[in-house]
Amino acid sequence: MTGPANLLRVAVPVPLSDALEYRWAGSGDLPRRGCRVRVPLGRSERIGVVIDHPDRTSLPAEKLRDVIELMDEEPVLAQELLRTLQWCADYYHYPIGEVLSQALPVLLRQGRSPVRAAAGPWELTDEGRAQDANAVRRRAPRQADALEILIREGSADAAEFRDQGVGATVLRRMNARGWVRRRPNRRAGTALKTDRDTPPTLTAEQQDCVDAIAGSPPGYRTWLLQGVTGSGKTEVYLRLIARELEAGRQSLLLVPEIGLTPQLIDRLQKRFAQRLAVMHSGLAAGQRLDAWQDVRTGAAKLIVGTRSAVFAPLARPGLIIVDEEHDPSFKQQDGFRYSARDLAVLRAQRLDIPVLLASATPSLESVHNAERGQYRALSIRRRIGTAGHPDMRVIDMNRHAVRQGLSTPLVTAIRRHLDADCQILLFLNRRGFAPVLLCPNCGTAEDCSRCDARMTIHAASGRLRCHHCGRTQPLSWVCSACGSERVAVGAGTQRITGELAALFPDARIARLDRDATARQGGVGTVLAGVKRGDTQILVGTQMLTKGHDFPRVTLVGVLNADQGLFGTDYRSTERFAQILLQVAGRAGRRDRAGEVLIQSHYPQHPLLRRLADQDYSEFARLALAEREAAGWPPFSHLILWRAEATRRASAHAFLEQVAAAARKRVAGVDVFGPAPASMERRGGRYRAQLLLQSKRRSALHRLMAELAPVVRTWPAARRVRWSVDVDPIEA
Ligand code: ADP
Ligand code: ZN
Ligand code: ZN
Repeated sequence: MTGPANLLRVAVPVPLSDALEYRWAGSGDLPRRGCRVRVPLGRSERIGVVIDHPDRTSLPAEKLRDVIELMDEEPVLAQELLRTLQWCADYYHYPIGEVLSQALPVLLRQGRSPVRAAAGPWELTDEGRAQDANAVRRRAPRQADALEILIREGSADAAEFRDQGVGATVLRRMNARGWVRRRPNRRAGTALKTDRDTPPTLTAEQQDCVDAIAGSPPGYRTWLLQGVTGSGKTEVYLRLIARELEAGRQSLLLVPEIGLTPQLIDRLQKRFAQRLAVMHSGLAAGQRLDAWQDVRTGAAKLIVGTRSAVFAPLARPGLIIVDEEHDPSFKQQDGFRYSARDLAVLRAQRLDIPVLLASATPSLESVHNAERGQYRALSIRRRIGTAGHPDMRVIDMNRHAVRQGLSTPLVTAIRRHLDADCQILLFLNRRGFAPVLLCPNCGTAEDCSRCDARMTIHAASGRLRCHHCGRTQPLSWVCSACGSERVAVGAGTQRITGELAALFPDARIARLDRDATARQGGVGTVLAGVKRGDTQILVGTQMLTKGHDFPRVTLVGVLNADQGLFGTDYRSTERFAQILLQVAGRAGRRDRAGEVLIQSHYPQHPLLRRLADQDYSEFARLALAEREAAGWPPFSHLILWRAEATRRASAHAFLEQVAAAARKRVAGVDVFGPAPASMERRGGRYRAQLLLQSKRRSALHRLMAELAPVVRTWPAARRVRWSVDVDPIEA
């Protein structure tokens, strides 16, 4: 019998756009939305999540299969989160089952219980302590027993409960109500620290920000805080978080990268100690589940995490903060290509709570939203302390002697700052020794055999490496084409570090990039060395730009600004401005004035001249005017349809077919391409892309909603790898 009362729609993690229908043949109530079920799929079984109870099915009765097992009594995904994830599947045109599974810790995807058997003993939460055991006894006598045991003993493990007649299900139920929890796993970054700090007195500007947010009526609102680096933004977050704590609500703080922000975690631990949960991809599966569970029960009051923490199962949400909101790492770049920054705003809206986006260099979308009144703008103009803004100058590389990428004025400045016992940061967006191995005789360079890219020399390991596909090969100085001796051209972080060591033999020099930190004991060790003052000169890549607070850095050198001046996509200018100002922001904090020197062959380039004023707002105003004139986002919306294949023609033919179907279908959407991707061949595959652009988001999504299901049925769609990128950040 297929009555209306026993149908379930289940999102199963497979690449299908839709959820699947199953029949519930078990006794009792239908499994609730957000509960996991084990279902048959083909000849195997999968774990899916119930997303709906449909009235009828189009499937013939003999095709409808039964759910094998219900795995949760309480939903693992609350209704709010479930609806947000369903919205994501529609908006990002990504299969619902895969979207849901990204929001669940891997152990839950594999079918484990949310409560870990291997975790520590049970203890009461604040909520649990507030329960009246006698009142509970009327409805749930076993739970009342458990409450009394915990009130008496403080904590107890499963065996102790069993001895006193309380089974595991009872505790699981109480856990789902937020009354008890496992003793938190200390390795999850929740180490208890006793050295608590004393919050500083806020500056007037900081106080204004706190007052504005704290003083507005409760409910959803997006705030955009623009404050230069070192202006005390983090302190503003801490105050707002403390207010939420007092009110018993949770705060979610999203950061670009946990590994790069040990100082921030340290500050949070000192201020908020045991109520902190950290969520990021580096956690072991068990730690991740513990953190997730602490968030869901409300035991964790402050959740700090990277991108995927935007799906944290908040029990009592009060506030969301996105630190460095402009950072590209908030956008997932493969598979389910969501923007955690955008979803933070969406979630806040649905939860009806405030969200704070903050940066020294906010994204142009956010600036635009603030300008048109969608977001409320806040700003902090002054830095903490007396240092003020650094002095920024461009060094004309055409007019000065340059040795291995270091100009004479920069070398002189480094010496001056070393003599004054200060620290120096040198930024170069290129790791390795030198980018190119070139034959001066025949002009041949060593290219990667799988990518449209040159191999990079890594002298220390004696190998050539491709930074795009990871391929390596032995380094040979003999030209394979003509047999002459080849030379290394250009400079990477490794070569610069060597050159500095020769110039300043007594200086203590360290390197911060992906190669170096893999060897030197991790990012934390390198950063700690700088923080302690052991390191005098730090040479690094993009990793330098991420919010570090080094009080003794007075000189920042940007070794090759030209790389950023001539980018190919419409966002390169914005990215370059953000990187440059973020790096510059590391110079001079508190009582030390800073100096920033930028090496360029194009010192008159209008972008450099504009940025030398360090007025990001003015930059953003002009850049937005240019975007508007050209019709780029945020004045239009984009969807990028990518395809790759081992044969160039297959990728193009597929996208031609998509383009033709798209052009037939809707008015109001421009279709550009297909065109080769900016690096056409990568890892042995040819990559092409099709750009869909529209002034109206709705037109774009209507088109996609029609197109995607049709395209999935094409045989051609199975011969290429394709993906859809909504609001791409590289186009
Ligand atoms: P941002 O997040 O804007 O880069 P931070 O909040 O990290 O700035 O502040 C920079 C430094 O100034 C930190 O070391 C912080 O402890 C300190 N600081 C912040 N606010 C104050 C204040 N009101 N008084 C004194 N020191 C402060
Ligand atoms: Zn390669
Ligand atoms: Zn040669």
